Amino acid sequence: MDASSERALSRLKEIDSEIHVLSGASALLGWDQETYMPRGGLANRGEQSALLEGLAHDRLASAETAALLAALGCADAEPSGDPSLPRPERLYLRAFHRAWARAAKLPGEFVRERAKAVAHSQAAWAEAREKNDFPSFEPHFQAMIAFARREAAYLGFERDPYSGLLNQYEPGMTEAPVAAVFEELKAGLASLLSRIGSRPQIDDSFLHRHCPEERQEAFSRRIAGILGLDPGRSRLDRSAHPFTTTIGPGDVRITTRYLEDYFASSISSTIHETGHALYEQGLPEAWFSTMAGDAASMAVHESQSRFWENVVGRSLAFWKARLPELRECVGPALDGIGPEEFYRAMNKVEPGLIRVDADEVTYSLHIVLRFELESALVSGALEPSGVPSAWKAAMERILGIVPADDAMGCLQDIHWSLGLVGYFPSYALGNLYAAQFAERMDADLGGIEAIIERGEQARLLDWLRRKVHSKGSLHTPSEIVADATGAPLSPKPFLEYLERKYAGIYGFSTVSPPYSS
Ligand code: ZN
Repeated sequence: MDASSERALSRLKEIDSEIHVLSGASALLGWDQETYMPRGGLANRGEQSALLEGLAHDRLASAETAALLAALGCADAEPSGDPSLPRPERLYLRAFHRAWARAAKLPGEFVRERAKAVAHSQAAWAEAREKNDFPSFEPHFQAMIAFARREAAYLGFERDPYSGLLNQYEPGMTEAPVAAVFEELKAGLASLLSRIGSRPQIDDSFLHRHCPEERQEAFSRRIAGILGLDPGRSRLDRSAHPFTTTIGPGDVRITTRYLEDYFASSISSTIHETGHALYEQGLPEAWFSTMAGDAASMAVHESQSRFWENVVGRSLAFWKARLPELRECVGPALDGIGPEEFYRAMNKVEPGLIRVDADEVTYSLHIVLRFELESALVSGALEPSGVPSAWKAAMERILGIVPADDAMGCLQDIHWSLGLVGYFPSYALGNLYAAQFAERMDADLGGIEAIIERGEQARLLDWLRRKVHSKGSLHTPSEIVADATGAPLSPKPFLEYLERKYAGIYGFSTVSPPYSS
């Protein structure tokens, strides 16, 4: 590398590190807002967060950053920069250029106008949901969809606007392949669901026995440690909606919630968020505080949380190993319950109205529904005013149940009120990635069930560290999946995993599935 490239690169990394310092501070404010901040802090906190986010955006979209990238040979046609640069630096530049290109294409005026509108929209949504009053949210919803369409146009996706929105969460992904994968997923899940529905239902009533918060918290702390979360570099707190946030290298925080009449909720939430945090703790140290040291995508992030929550934390092997520890913590709530019974209860399948409460089989159907509606909203085939009735019709068609009102229907999720359009597919793609990783890991390690039952889950983490975490954003999600599993993204491993698992739990024989090809 010549001296001038070296200087440009080192200045670029300096700017990158400042952007990460600003976003870490912003994350800390967000964490505090969801955990300990008194209500009175809300208005001022909004201003603090908006200022920090604006500063980070300005740093990224600045004329200096553009000049540095140009000096390093980065352009839309050559995002990795000058071909003579060393490969790791070129991978870094590609990740930086991706973030920069999006930010630089959005006019500052648009970003500020939208940020202001989002604050009002979120407040209007919260009230509309509480009062079950969709019409009061509708003008804000219309504004958010209009922003989404404008954003896609700024990004150069006039012809395929949904893809422009989708690939900010999932770099490189476009609408058509997601639609194709979701069609296959929908057919496979519908078939599985009808076979499950023909069998006697599981009794999971013991999961609703009273269990005090402090007992659940004791288990949450224990299980996070068992799974490998480093307590010297993390925290566990509580919040209404569980989440994970990274303040900086060495400080990843998770939250969970404790429902005294449903202790299974904190078990799933804690394991899920631990999965997110393990990923953050495994990102490449050499690239900390740079775009290359960030997670590869929302879906890859979700694949990590769902791998631990579902593939591990909802397996029989895991509860054969861990039920004694859970019993020690939760006490009488588990009287008379063995690992088999616990496993079956944790895997009860039942179509419901609410996405976040859904089981492993129906969850992705909730996502397919949102994807179909979003896609129609962005293309203009559906207007926001038509969403309440389109939602009910889609619920009936996809899950066979209909919400009585909009609070339990199209108003249940916060995403659209924040202008997050194109985000939902990440959740279902995460399920697919998780199953595909698990299938390959199983082959590589010679059977993960026996490993889980022996309590050697550190070996699973080691596999994920090597194949996924350590890649950061140096590689795209499709490269990570192809390198780790030898195949492109496919719904088959997920459908086959569910087929095997639920045939065992509900007692039906596996049929030759309609999705096999
Ligand atoms: Zn998650």
